[in-house]
Amino acid sequence: MNKFSWYQASSVEEALKAVNSTVSESLTAKPGTGAVFKSGGIDVLDLMKEGLLQPEMIVNIREIPGLDSIEDTADGGLKIGANATLAEMMENEKIKQNYQALYQSLNHAATPQLRNMASLGGNLAQRTRCWYFRSIDHQCFRKGGSTCFAKNGMNEFHSILKNGMCSSVHSSSISTALMAFDAKVEITGSKGKQRLVDLDDFFILPGDDPSRENILRSDELIAAVILPKISSDTKSIYKKQGARESYDWALADVAIVADVKSGKCSKATMVLGAAAPVPLRIQYAADMLVNEKIDENIAKEVAEAAMERATPLEHNAYKVPLFKALIKRSVLQLA
Ligand SMILES: Cc1cc2nc3c(=O)[nH]c(=O)nc-3n(C[C@H](O)[C@H](O)[C@H](O)COP(=O)(O)OP(=O)(O)OC[C@H]3O[C@@H](n4cnc5c(N)ncnc54)[C@H](O)[C@@H]3O)c2cc1C
Repeated sequence: MNKFSWYQASSVEEALKAVNSTVSESLTAKPGTGAVFKSGGIDVLDLMKEGLLQPEMIVNIREIPGLDSIEDTADGGLKIGANATLAEMMENEKIKQNYQALYQSLNHAATPQLRNMASLGGNLAQRTRCWYFRSIDHQCFRKGGSTCFAKNGMNEFHSILKNGMCSSVHSSSISTALMAFDAKVEITGSKGKQRLVDLDDFFILPGDDPSRENILRSDELIAAVILPKISSDTKSIYKKQGARESYDWALADVAIVADVKSGKCSKATMVLGAAAPVPLRIQYAADMLVNEKIDENIAKEVAEAAMERATPLEHNAYKVPLFKALIKRSVLQLA
């Protein structure tokens, strides 16, 4: 592990200033060598141990006052500070009552110990767990090479959709649920400049830029995630299948958020996780639910449609029936 300096930030401004000073000094440095934000530090430490991150400076944002707050928004939604831990989010009554798919995704993520450390911001910005990406010996497409080793290698945990250039999957299963609720990410940049982006636009497909998994610039920080108000007819379901029930990343996960009254759907969104290099909204399949009475037939049709564009690899074709089963069960549970 390389030597690095430690900066204890006590405000977002300070954290951004510290990162900016290091970024400008190391413009010619290798990626992963400038300054890096640390919240819970779970992925930062893993990346350092794996040799993929050799920061000059670690900027600890964990102690910034207020960055972990969870507050109601003026229009009835919820604003979750980037430093809120997954455990703190699970304790929030509004998440428990109104955003049940999000609660379920938190409940199935990692372990209680990890959820006590893991922050929302770190969860969104964590890197893929693709074993070729995590191996220092493989200069894969995501690390500036020309090959996705998983495509013709060991690919049982990899993507079955949008996997043309790189077949990694995004590791954040919390994002599957957040995206289904049409969440937005509040990003703060240098000089306090803020931008609000849809979570759909936050993630980047490897074909657009293989070196990054999200739009964050090195001098920007996630400040919060904002959930819109939901209506009294809104129902939400999240289902995850991992290799082990105890703790693991998803092999497949699904979130559906729909307005359903007397068993009939008037609006729906569906997002799949661990299917593609980004959490993937499958809106055309969710739209099939609109104006339909939820039953076995429509649930099956939606599941089939959601998987019709799948391009599984040699060892992960099992994901297609797995997703179909999760989607079908989720749709039926809406009623
Ligand atoms: C065994 C295991 C199982 C897991 N299972 C799951 C799972 O099922 N589902 C799931 O979703 N996750 C899972 N995780 C991942 C875990 O939730 C993440 O590692 C964790 O959320 C990262 O949070 P952190 O606060 O520790 O991030 P850190 O390690 O502090 O940061 C991670 C990355 O985010 C950046 N970062 C942190 N905060 C910010 C911010 N505010 N703005 C901009 N960048 C920031 C850091 O620079 C770094 O690049 C699992 C992890 C382990 C070890």
